[in-house]
Amino acid sequence: MEDPFDSERASLPRNMIENSMFEEEPDVVDLAKDSTAFPALEPDEVVYEPHCSRLLVRGLGENDLDDEEDDYESSARLLGMSFMNRSSTHSPSSSPYNRQAPPRSCSRPSARMLVVGVFILVLVASMAMVLYFLPGCTFTKAGCGKANSSTPMEPAYPNSANGDLFPWNELRLPASVRPVNYDLSLTLNLTSMTFTGRTVINMTIQHNTKRIVLHSSELIITKATFQVGEDKSVEVKVLEYKPWQQIAVSFPEDLKAGQVCVLTLDYTANLSHTYDGFYNSSYNDKTGAKRVLAATQFEPQAARKAFPCFDEPAFKATFLVRITREPGYITLSNMPQAKTTTLPSGLLEDEFEQTSVNMSTYLVAFIVANFTSVTRNVSNTLVSVYSVPEKKEHTHYALDTASKLLQFYNTFFEIDYPLRKLDLVAIPDFLAGAMENWGLITFRETSLLVGNQSSPLDKQLIANVVAHELAHQWFGNLVTMRWWNDLWLNEGFATYWQYTSLMTEFPQLELGNSFLGVRFKAMAKDSVNSSHPVSESSQVTTPEQVSEMFDSVTYEKGASLLLMLNSTLPDGQFRKGLINYLNKGSNTVTEDLWNSLTQAQVLPQQESVSDMMRTWTLQKGFPLVTVSRKAGQVTLTQEHFLLSADNATYTSSLWHIPVTYVNDSCSSAPSCRQIFHLRNKTATLKVSDSVKWLKLNYMNTGFYIVHYGDEGWATLIDALKTDVNTLTPHDRASLIHNIFALSRLGRVSFRQVLSLLDYATNETETAPLTEALSQLSSVYRLLNKRQELRLVARMKAYVCSHFGQLMDSQDWGEEESVSRLELRSALLEMACSLGRQNCTDQAMALYDQWTNSNQTKQIPGDLQRVVFSVAAKSDLGWRSLMEAYSSSTYDSEKRKILQALASTQDPQIIVWILSAGLEGGIIQTQELPLVISTMSDGFAGHLFVWDFVKENWDRIIEKFPVGSYPIQSIIKSTTSQFSTQTHLEEVQGFFSSLKERGSQMRSVQEALETIELNQLWMDRNLPTLRHWL
Ligand SMILES: [Zn+2]
Repeated sequence: MEDPFDSERASLPRNMIENSMFEEEPDVVDLAKDSTAFPALEPDEVVYEPHCSRLLVRGLGENDLDDEEDDYESSARLLGMSFMNRSSTHSPSSSPYNRQAPPRSCSRPSARMLVVGVFILVLVASMAMVLYFLPGCTFTKAGCGKANSSTPMEPAYPNSANGDLFPWNELRLPASVRPVNYDLSLTLNLTSMTFTGRTVINMTIQHNTKRIVLHSSELIITKATFQVGEDKSVEVKVLEYKPWQQIAVSFPEDLKAGQVCVLTLDYTANLSHTYDGFYNSSYNDKTGAKRVLAATQFEPQAARKAFPCFDEPAFKATFLVRITREPGYITLSNMPQAKTTTLPSGLLEDEFEQTSVNMSTYLVAFIVANFTSVTRNVSNTLVSVYSVPEKKEHTHYALDTASKLLQFYNTFFEIDYPLRKLDLVAIPDFLAGAMENWGLITFRETSLLVGNQSSPLDKQLIANVVAHELAHQWFGNLVTMRWWNDLWLNEGFATYWQYTSLMTEFPQLELGNSFLGVRFKAMAKDSVNSSHPVSESSQVTTPEQVSEMFDSVTYEKGASLLLMLNSTLPDGQFRKGLINYLNKGSNTVTEDLWNSLTQAQVLPQQESVSDMMRTWTLQKGFPLVTVSRKAGQVTLTQEHFLLSADNATYTSSLWHIPVTYVNDSCSSAPSCRQIFHLRNKTATLKVSDSVKWLKLNYMNTGFYIVHYGDEGWATLIDALKTDVNTLTPHDRASLIHNIFALSRLGRVSFRQVLSLLDYATNETETAPLTEALSQLSSVYRLLNKRQELRLVARMKAYVCSHFGQLMDSQDWGEEESVSRLELRSALLEMACSLGRQNCTDQAMALYDQWTNSNQTKQIPGDLQRVVFSVAAKSDLGWRSLMEAYSSSTYDSEKRKILQALASTQDPQIIVWILSAGLEGGIIQTQELPLVISTMSDGFAGHLFVWDFVKENWDRIIEKFPVGSYPIQSIIKSTTSQFSTQTHLEEVQGFFSSLKERGSQMRSVQEALETIELNQLWMDRNLPTLRHWL
């Protein structure tokens, strides 16, 4: 999946001060320590979990509904489950049942084990008592009641919707049954917005079991039949446990391993009114008539809202889809259409070919709409781009890009895209940026449609999203993470490839600067205590925890680590290793990737990929490398770069860092780069005495920050003042980024930061300049929100004295070079937002030309946002933009107009836009997060937005579920610029009052950490700023 805010990245502030202080809770009780404490379990109950090295034991005991023998097991379960539900934060422990697979035979316990066993028993019994006396047993009355009786505690099973005990009590499904094929028939009614379905699931029994448990949500099951082998099909009762979106069928006798069975379920449901499951959407066509359509969004866990299924990524199967629709629509699904039959009712039934590949449920997709398409044959695949009919002419760029990239990936991965067709579809109302459904990729219109005459920056955005989703057809679809804790194997790779493939195939799009920005962004997110490891080993089970994996650490840090690895390995190994990995197919864990890369080793004496990369993926955060030098002896020391408002926070994390460096005698060509492996806390590197300075982390391809010490920084600053080009532009940007980060950490003074920036008056390159502007504007915004008016004025004067000339010298005409466009828009957005006359005059002149020519005289795409924002400052301008917004069908332009409308400082308009966005209609609800983030940057907006979010929280999470990327974005944009104790307490109070409606989100912790850090930064730096600016 692509997050929808990529397009805003360039202009959004990278959160300047993110923050820290919530120590994770210690493990609750680790019953895993001694496997002999428990009897052996049925293999049915062993669910393969994240890390290949261990097994999670889920449901303890097969026939346990009537069992009384496993006392402490059931106590443990109750204990664990209750803890899971009570725990006020995400428990970092994997599970109380976590342990190695126990041997079936009894082994003689050692004395130590006995002691441990007795200790655990006592502990379990006493904690169970404590829990019993605590109010609010989460599970059934039966479960709680039992604990009260004199009999030993029984397994705590929840009650089904009909009152019967539900035969399963874990969020993860048992591994005893595997689906093989789904035969899915849906009949859609776009008038009543309902559908009926029949799902026929062919499955095999893996281990003897008396139950089949699968997912279903918001479906009304009307009939269920079950057939074993050649036996007669019989009607069966389906039990449902709604809180966990599961249904189950119980059997009196064991289903035997190896048996083949068929479960057939008939059901009805409403089309969803949110953005997931099988949902309805609408748009107005060019005549103004409302057109309806239905589309799907299943990732991560919404396939269960369209059909009952084993909705976990490792349960791969084949799918055959049939959809019945009214004439006047077309249907699309993952596979090509096989046939269409006219039914007696006059409705048409489209049948698609059965999928030729095994795939995870979250990749299934179907659409019923009146779209039209453009197509092209690429190798053996028919590539099509679909849109609403009136936007057909905006589909060509996507078709060209997809065709070229499909060929690139086919060749590079040495595995052809396996399906005969690949559709890219622009959906009018769609929440994610895009979704990689196999063979049927869905997009927001703004992520796919672009006119041929649009700005190269608009095209860059489309190409980015297309490249990301196409890469998923291999990384994600062909090879899928076993569970969501390793989501980075999908998203880190797709993000890595989106940049890498475009840099190779579309060099004119100049993706290098964006990719550098991605690394900086990932570091900001990962520098606080609430961050998490890329490969998450702690609990990722609830829907909220799964949703929260879709974040910057998974996407951007994942991609950054892959870049670091590729630039460390000898030529060819990375590609060869990835081809090995892809050929393994099916479902993987992170360790499989390292193994594949190790197998591809080309040199005999090489660093172990696994040893190195585990230090990066299994622990959160990243290192700070400090350099100190005595003549030819260079000492490198590493520590955790952790921003924390509490000095006592300390971690002993160590990384295996491939430190790269260049020196004054050879500093910019790739051949100058040398490498040193820093594995320990401290190590010494020898250089020639004549070396004047070292610059570490060449081109910033490594995921670490470097501190050169006072002397080291001074010599580097001198070198840059003498000759800017002594370092590459990315190295210059890296120095600017690092010194701001060090100032946040309190290791350098703001005076040193300004001293480095002095060189920038000679800077003309995009990467260092945009980095400097972004850092300065973050500081500016914070000061502005604190109403430090004198400092705000001085900061403005500082920016103008350093960059004013460059701002004024920008040309406002058409421009082709992407990196010049990136620089120009960054400079002018800053200039106009500071009210620099030259900028606002030019912007108004362009705006007048545009309106006077009836919008035929185009504003260059990269300048639209700045021009519209200036125009929106006046009442008249705002109103004419609002009209333009309502009539525009040109998506990228429309979005920029919306940002301008939302940048208003008029309180009444602010309130109106926010409610219009929540309502949907004039402003689509999918745009609400964008509206909120734009408003939060402005002074008037940010207070109103916070109130709005508080007051409308329940309606907001109806549209954007707790944990989802949009909600993460909303929390971040509304709170990340607070820097006072009052705001801290208010934010804390609000979120803790939400309880299960959001209080446990990681983004809430991050928000609180950020405010504390902002506060700390202000305390530390206001005096310096007053002195030095
Ligand atoms: Zn993705």
